[in-house]
Amino acid sequence: AAALSARDVSLEYPDGTDAQGRPRTVRALDRVCLDLHRGDMTALIGPSGSGKSSLLAVAAALIKPTSGTVSVAGQELTELPEKELAKIRRGHTGMVFQQPNLLAALTSREQLVLAAHVAGARGKDLRAARSRADELLEQVGLVDCGDRRPHQLSGGQRQRVNIARALMNDPQLLLVDEPTAALDQERSRSIMELLANLTHQFSLASLVVTHDTEFVPLADRCVRMEDGRLQ
Ligand code: ADP
Ligand code: ADP
Repeated sequence: AAALSARDVSLEYPDGTDAQGRPRTVRALDRVCLDLHRGDMTALIGPSGSGKSSLLAVAAALIKPTSGTVSVAGQELTELPEKELAKIRRGHTGMVFQQPNLLAALTSREQLVLAAHVAGARGKDLRAARSRADELLEQVGLVDCGDRRPHQLSGGQRQRVNIARALMNDPQLLLVDEPTAALDQERSRSIMELLANLTHQFSLASLVVTHDTEFVPLADRCVRMEDGRLQ
């Protein structure tokens, strides 16, 4: 089964009321169909307001579509109770947002271990998480940064910690929203290359929103959103 399969997914947000006081809606996704397979990095491009973030939020099971179905690893999200959805959000899916959102008081290693703790790791699993954290930090090019706090890291390094953290719970699906928005060209390229390498190494199904068409060739595939529709 695909790591993610969206079928005819539409999403409408409430948008105030019209002149007669009737509720209005804005359509962010319009019958979107998309399959993501493990080992493939898909670039998601399209103008601002075209629905890219909405598609990520639906894929991450953060919002429920107005209609259509989303399945992860063969399980239909729309049919699962909240408790199961929470499990999928933590275990199946890794998320990377534009801003790294690291906790100021924690070292890089601790940011990663916390992700395992939040997902339920205790005792010996937590000790295993510490060595996994160090391995992942090495894999994202941060060998000597395990003991540093965010203010001791550069912007590019903070984004790498963020990416490593998203991989802590061994996800199949990696959802990434504009990871390079705060970085210059050279650092953006190295982050996009890292994402492509991790996708292949860990056999992830990755969906990466980018406005930088320059980096699209680093992806295995590219899809474009326009007005809520996937081209
Ligand atoms: P993109 O990520 O491509 O910029 P979005 O998914 O953020 O696009 O937005 C798609 C459409 O949905 C836009 O018209 C936007 O204004 C609207 N939208 C996004 N989030 C909300 C929200 N929480 N409430 C109402 N409208 C929203
Ligand atoms: P990049 O964003 O590509 O990592 P930078 O030019 O921001 O590059 O940082 C270059 C190097 O300087 C980094 O590899 C990092 O080791 C070091 N560095 C940056 N900021 C700090 C800081 N606040 N404390 C310690 N080292 C730093």
